[in-house]
Amino acid sequence: MSLDTSTPQRAAIQLYKIIDAYSAATGTSPFPIDVKQLALNIAEQFKWPDPIVEVMPANIQKFEGALFSNDRGDKWMLAYNDKLASPGRIRFTMAHELGHYVLHRLKRAKFECGQKDVLNGLADEKNIEAQADQFASYLLMPLDDYRKQITTMVDFDLLGKCAARYDVSLTAAALKWINFTEEKAVLISHNDGFINWAWSSLSAREAGAFFKTSQSPIEIPSGSVAAEESLKHERLGVQIPLSTWWPNAEEESQIREMKISADQYGNILTLLVLPRLAKAWPKWRPR
Ligand SMILES: [Zn+2]
Repeated sequence: MSLDTSTPQRAAIQLYKIIDAYSAATGTSPFPIDVKQLALNIAEQFKWPDPIVEVMPANIQKFEGALFSNDRGDKWMLAYNDKLASPGRIRFTMAHELGHYVLHRLKRAKFECGQKDVLNGLADEKNIEAQADQFASYLLMPLDDYRKQITTMVDFDLLGKCAARYDVSLTAAALKWINFTEEKAVLISHNDGFINWAWSSLSAREAGAFFKTSQSPIEIPSGSVAAEESLKHERLGVQIPLSTWWPNAEEESQIREMKISADQYGNILTLLVLPRLAKAWPKWRPR
């Protein structure tokens, strides 16, 4: 058997299917995916001559994870920073490094990945860091299984359950949902009143509901749940006017806004879900 590495998604899906078949045969759950076991066994499975021989925590201050080979290039070591905030983050980092091993190891002997590289849903598609993230996302949160978990209206409680099922961070689970949902949804990371990054679902982008954070700093609008400093969490959401976030939008539309204070660094996650027919584009007006 050979592994299809033509895209990060294909490689990850094929690996998940092997794990799932094994789990079905042994009557266990495939989740959360045992990335360490997979990393140590994958070379044998596909008869590759250059196995990962060790997966270990390392005190690598500047990096979240690293993958490097010995001088002969026939043995690899996968290291991760175990001082990271959560086990979910570590799991994603390990899967990201495994992605480099599966997809990129013939190009390089060493990969060192920092915080910006890992879990950057906004990176260029051709970038190897974005490819490693995609691999990790599809391996840890297989699409077929994730769709089955979306049984009710999506809020931070449901996304939190998915994050627990796959043992990934809430941000990783929420970004994954944003990437496949047909709903108009926008995930925003912010602190100190400004947007760090924002990611919109395809249908939200098509309706004009997105933020261009690369051009100039965007302030959190007053009147939004996000701007209310005394409110730390609003997991299920409240209805607010769409025009709070997009002043040019139809005044009558309401959106559901949710919020969760994500970590000890003061980062806040906000989730906006628009009605299916809502548009954030300015209304056409005769001049
Ligand atoms: Zn990387």
